[in-house]
Amino acid sequence: MTRRVFRYVPFVIEQDQSAEPEYEARCVSGDETECGAESGSYGAPEPVEEWQRRHTQETRHRRYRRNFGDYAVLRPLRGPAALSGAREDEG
Ligand SMILES: [Zn+2]
Repeated sequence: MTRRVFRYVPFVIEQDQSAEPEYEARCVSGDETECGAESGSYGAPEPVEEWQRRHTQETRHRRYRRNFGDYAVLRPLRGPAALSGAREDEG
């Protein structure tokens, strides 16, 4: 039996600032079949909420499935150089 040894490297998990987060909603109202209307994807929650209010006004549908997505990057605590195995001169 072989054992793999992983060295513990501390990372900070951060939101990737170079990619916009994604907000969207889908109408799941309806007894047997969902309405299925979709807001489309936005970089902020407000347009999605606006769409929901409008959709509810037009259809009386009041139940939505919301999705939020973003990108995360793990940054080594000791700086970017640690990722490539390069040695840091300071720190
Ligand atoms: Zn609907």
